[in-house]
Amino acid sequence: MSQTAPTPATDTTAPQDEADVIVVGAGPAGSTAAYYLATAGLDVLLLEKTAFPREKVCGDGLTPRSVKQLVAMGIPVDGEGWIRNRGLRIIGGGVRLELPWPELAAYPDYGLVRTRYDFDQILARHAVRAGARLLERTNVTAPLVDARSNRVVGVSATDAEGRTRHFRAPLVLAADGNSSRLSIALGIRKRDDRPMGVAVRTYFTSPRHDDDYLESWLELWDHQDGKKVLLPGYGWIFGVGDGTSNVGLGILNSTASFQKVDYRKLLRRWTQNMPEEWGFTEENQRGPIRGAALPMGFNRTPHYARGLMLVGDAGGMVNPFNGEGIAYAMEAGQIAAEVAVQALSRPTQQARERTLLRYPQILRETYGGYYTLGRYFVKLIGNPEFMKYATKYGLPRPTLMRFTLKMLANLTEPSQGDAMDRLINGLSKIAPAA
Ligand SMILES: Cc1cc2nc3c(=O)[nH]c(=O)nc-3n(C[C@H](O)[C@H](O)[C@H](O)COP(=O)(O)OP(=O)(O)OC[C@H]3O[C@@H](n4cnc5c(N)ncnc54)[C@H](O)[C@@H]3O)c2cc1C
Repeated sequence: MSQTAPTPATDTTAPQDEADVIVVGAGPAGSTAAYYLATAGLDVLLLEKTAFPREKVCGDGLTPRSVKQLVAMGIPVDGEGWIRNRGLRIIGGGVRLELPWPELAAYPDYGLVRTRYDFDQILARHAVRAGARLLERTNVTAPLVDARSNRVVGVSATDAEGRTRHFRAPLVLAADGNSSRLSIALGIRKRDDRPMGVAVRTYFTSPRHDDDYLESWLELWDHQDGKKVLLPGYGWIFGVGDGTSNVGLGILNSTASFQKVDYRKLLRRWTQNMPEEWGFTEENQRGPIRGAALPMGFNRTPHYARGLMLVGDAGGMVNPFNGEGIAYAMEAGQIAAEVAVQALSRPTQQARERTLLRYPQILRETYGGYYTLGRYFVKLIGNPEFMKYATKYGLPRPTLMRFTLKMLANLTEPSQGDAMDRLINGLSKIAPAA
């Protein structure tokens, strides 16, 4: 992408290429934002560089936080292609523990798995049904910046026919994922004081495809420089319900060993040690091992500047505790839309700007403290001694593990919860939201 494209001198924007809001990227963040914006009656252009359905590298796991978002949008989650799970099975330190999702008023008590192959398409189509205008095969190449106000007033893109088009709107949402070239073009870069993860996954035809628990393996060992190293991260086995299991692993950048890991080999070695009857063999592998980054704990800020809002992975919103990103992308999409709807109804530019600046504030109030705790957690588990100690002495204690599940999955009652909820909420409140 070139840096900010100069605003064309002559207006080359066709009337249909103008909107109230432009959303760049139709992943979970972009489609959720577009849905809420369109529902509020705004004219929304949702620009997506790929065409649906399309592969997206992911674990395909949806915790109760994501289910809550899907339910709120009125997306039916009972039909074919959705498989429910009842909780998390944790394996490590010689222990195998099944922890049901907590029973809370604020969240459903079940999770789901659905492959991103069509999950993203379902969300995008839902936004279209609400009135958003989705343009697929439309690759946004640069923001349009008004020279006088220095604000983003639209984007340039290459459309499905290879033509350059200029789309205009008073507000643009960057929901273009981890690499967010739109943010970079405006000089909003990744922060290296925030955790980052890398995850890889593939699919296997497996009799475990209809598992009703999400399974995570806490001990990932690598061989580096002739030594066995315990890595900060976990492996997962999520049944997709279609005859296959999504099998993958994610690792945090909190140790020196991060640079040395060959993720694909590690996944291969890990699955080779699984019981034969699970079928995680090369013959049963469906598709290559693919990987991508996990931008965590607000690793790109500011989340609003000069007419551009950053949503989801573009703003580094993955939960540092567990690597979950879909729920946070959808929640941020909803928050961004609500703020945008209010802002665009204000009569003056000054009042609009004041309202738009609420977006980063709300994000900080909602997740800031919790993500700070997440950063401490990432540092802690970067210490192999702590990891060994935690798996050895923590895992055999069911009450402690129920607390850990609530903490890691961010599943508490916002008020009136039990003692665990109050402790987690209290800690999140006192941790500085940076
Ligand atoms: C291996 C792996 C496993 C994971 N497992 C899980 C899991 O099990 N559960 C979970 O909750 N999270 C998981 N995550 C994280 C999750 O995938 C992300 O947090 C989530 O996809 C973020 O959604 P998003 O909408 O912000 O970004 P994305 O899903 O990345 O969507 C961005 C969209 O923008 C489009 N786009 C990009 N650039 C442009 C452009 N220039 N013009 C137009 N369109 C553009 C892309 O094509 C894409 O459709 C995993 C991540 C990885 C890498």
